[in-house]
Amino acid sequence: MNHKNKVLSAMEEVNKKLKKMHVCRVGTMAAEILTFEDILFEAEGVERFQKQPRNQEIFKIKEPLTIKQILDNRRGYLQRFNYCPDCGKKIDWKFLMEGL
Ligand SMILES: [Zn+2]
Repeated sequence: MNHKNKVLSAMEEVNKKLKKMHVCRVGTMAAEILTFEDILFEAEGVERFQKQPRNQEIFKIKEPLTIKQILDNRRGYLQRFNYCPDCGKKIDWKFLMEGL
């Protein structure tokens, strides 16, 4: 992360606190506990990686997974939480996965 992004992200954190907003973290992906938005970002990275012909050759990927498949917790990319570790709210996975 470059300096500008660090500053922007720090400002975002402050704004979040000021607004008393809370974005629930819904699962673990790439060894981090993330919000759904960040999980989508990670899944897009996996999708892009799998679509590259060179990677398909190296990792013997016949059919790249879709975002929906990557977010299927049985595939091992994502561990879904039932409850937010920060506030204890139940995570509505059905709602989050709608439209993907
Ligand atoms: Zn929460």
